[in-house]
Amino acid sequence: MSVLARTEELLSRPWTLSYQEHLDAHGTLPALAPHEVIALAEGAGLRGRGGAGFPLARKLRTAAQGRGRPLVIANGTEGEPAIRKDSTLLMHVPHLVLDGLALAARAVGARESLIAVHSGLVAEAVTQAVAQRPDRVQVHVVPPGYLSGEASALTRSVLGGPALPFVRDVPLAVRGPQGRPVLVQNVETLASLALQARFPGRPPTVLLTVRGRDVQVLEVKIGVTIGAVLDTAGETDVQAVLAGGYAGTWLSAPRALDVPVSHAAGTLAAGLLLVLPHDACGVSAVAQLARYLAGQSAGQCGPCANGLPALAAAWELLAAGDPPAGTVDRIERLAGLIDGRGACGLPDGAAVMARSALEAFADDIVVHRTGPCGRRSAELPR
Ligand code: SF4
Repeated sequence: MSVLARTEELLSRPWTLSYQEHLDAHGTLPALAPHEVIALAEGAGLRGRGGAGFPLARKLRTAAQGRGRPLVIANGTEGEPAIRKDSTLLMHVPHLVLDGLALAARAVGARESLIAVHSGLVAEAVTQAVAQRPDRVQVHVVPPGYLSGEASALTRSVLGGPALPFVRDVPLAVRGPQGRPVLVQNVETLASLALQARFPGRPPTVLLTVRGRDVQVLEVKIGVTIGAVLDTAGETDVQAVLAGGYAGTWLSAPRALDVPVSHAAGTLAAGLLLVLPHDACGVSAVAQLARYLAGQSAGQCGPCANGLPALAAAWELLAAGDPPAGTVDRIERLAGLIDGRGACGLPDGAAVMARSALEAFADDIVVHRTGPCGRRSAELPR
């Protein structure tokens, strides 16, 4: 397990390997046939690192078998304000991501590939890297926002439409908006593919953003416990952990420390471990997250547009203390109403976050039924 970057200062300084430095450090990319790339992804068990964790090989195969020339998009948008792993990767080793993009394009027979990022230092680092390479990749700058990196929203934005999700009858890898397959793949997944091509059999690792006293990006093996990660990061004051992302799972300590970081445990997702210290109020943290998620909804789907603000309001009443009778029941009911009812995964994630919080902060919720708990309000990046 290693710490790749510590503190916001380091993350805000471009520290990009040039193409030649990248070749010197990693060697040239092997010329693999399409089926070999897919076999490599399958053998290593690579899964998407944007949040959904879908098996990469299956997605590559689907796009390769679709009708028409696929479009391949490397997703480096990282819309969550607490997560820094993808931007760290793009600012330090962008050529590893671009190598992975070239491999994915080869695997599916694409002639067109691009990398999508938000404007700023990351876009500058990526644009500079793309200009140094012999292959042709476009850089697409996406408007800021939590949802603009959602796969269907990103595809629409790339094709000239608004960066908003849309309802799909089939996966994008089967058929996108123009009738041809669209492969949207997170940049960390692509970097892992490029590493596997050079070092087949290398045990796959994942990047985590640990946000507690400090902000750090760590490279870890899948299955390591949350406790081991926090030890390495030097985070010792742990009341609870939010694992995965803002629409992730709350776990209370000490139980959280024995839980593995893995797809199976539901703790990996977009790779966030957010540490809540003992002096902060967990209920206020949940209320802030619920309000944040409600603010990200594009308002296109009724259950989400109405349900997320109602869920946030219920958590805010609970956080303030002495809420109206039935507030906790209302949270449970609202979580059930929004779950699985949107065009994208935002309401499902909000439901997961809310339900896990009811369990992780059960004791605090009892206190809040009669008044505020007296702890300070948590401060989460928004
Ligand atoms: S589910 Fe919510 S966030 Fe997603 S597209 Fe519909 S309204 Fe927008």
